[in-house]
Amino acid sequence: MRGTDFASLSAAIDARRDELVDLTRALIRFPTVNPPGDAYAPCAEFIGARLGARGFKVEYVRAVGSPGDTDSHPRINVVARWESGLDGPCVHFNGHIDVVPAGAGWSVDPFAGEVHRGRIYGRGSADMKGGLAAAIVAVEALIDAGLELPGALEISGTVDEESGGYGGVHYLAQRGWFSAPRVNHVIIPEPLNVGRVCIGHRGVWWAEIETFGRSAHGSMPFFGDCAVRHMQAVIERFERDLYPQFASRRTAMPVVPEAARRSTLNINSIHGGQPEQSGGYPSPCVADSCRLIFDRRLLIEENLAGVKQQMRALLEDLAAERHGFRYVLRDLFEVEPTMTPRDGPVASATAASIRQVLGRDAEFVCSPGTYDQKHVDRIGKLKDCIAYGPGILDLAHQPDEYVELDDMVAAAKVMARTAWVLLARAP
Ligand SMILES: [Zn+2]
Repeated sequence: MRGTDFASLSAAIDARRDELVDLTRALIRFPTVNPPGDAYAPCAEFIGARLGARGFKVEYVRAVGSPGDTDSHPRINVVARWESGLDGPCVHFNGHIDVVPAGAGWSVDPFAGEVHRGRIYGRGSADMKGGLAAAIVAVEALIDAGLELPGALEISGTVDEESGGYGGVHYLAQRGWFSAPRVNHVIIPEPLNVGRVCIGHRGVWWAEIETFGRSAHGSMPFFGDCAVRHMQAVIERFERDLYPQFASRRTAMPVVPEAARRSTLNINSIHGGQPEQSGGYPSPCVADSCRLIFDRRLLIEENLAGVKQQMRALLEDLAAERHGFRYVLRDLFEVEPTMTPRDGPVASATAASIRQVLGRDAEFVCSPGTYDQKHVDRIGKLKDCIAYGPGILDLAHQPDEYVELDDMVAAAKVMARTAWVLLARAP
């Protein structure tokens, strides 16, 4: 790639700064709140109409039968593809259009897209309409630059990422939209910060343990067997065996924040015994059941089979040692950890672009939680996928969420250059 070419592409993106602001504000104004999945269709159609007018082939894919898909809340995804006419790979930018509910504590209207002091405020500004807008403007500027671009560029706006992606990337990946030869490189502009390349995420296992007891009158608990006390023994094993082991283990994953560079186990909730009676009086019974819901996060050095075996062994130990201990372990949700190599095509091209645009080395990171990369990797069988985009992850899902305009412009430059490098196979 010649420096002068990039300088003019960079200048073309600077010239679109106002357009980038307008596009981001327009996207924020669609209240695509999930749950329940509001305004998906008009938001997808807005993106499709824009790209269709610029020569993209636009397709709308409704995830019929996916969770929450109804005629009043259809799960509508948009995929737009531009082909240069020359043979080459396809670079795909995927942004989710859904946002979490606004919640309380806002000092601005969460769906107005207000601009103050170089920031755009609103629910989804960082996570991740700002990133999606930056990707759209980047791709448009790249195409308009008239460079030789062998291959294709795709942009998708997908739904339901915040609830697992089943009506979005999961659905599309199952139908070949995220597999070679249609797509070769994927960038997901999640808000990981403009200087960072996110190469993967930890895995997750949500599950429920239920312990059982025997009901008796609360005044004579010795005639029963308390399921809550059995659960307490489970938690004691977590404290004695699991947490110290997690603290001692190191990972090759560059997870941010750094405290997430180990396995974690959150106890999400415990439900034990009968509910209180009307008037607030306690149940008169010994608890015959107790359920504990947990969230176990896995490192790349672990896998779901091993982690489940570890939990099963802990519970079996208790069953052998503790009188009356009976339990059931139920799976609720699971995703294996994923990490693409730092020297893979999309990660290394993005890192080089960050160096050129920002004048500093890129930081490689992994996300503590999962995002749609899991579906691209596991279902699409496409490894060359990263998350890269403007916005500060910590602000996601918070009141007064915002994205910095300067970061959006810089990220658009990084994305445009990266797509160019990947298509033209430029150094
Ligand atoms: Zn997101």
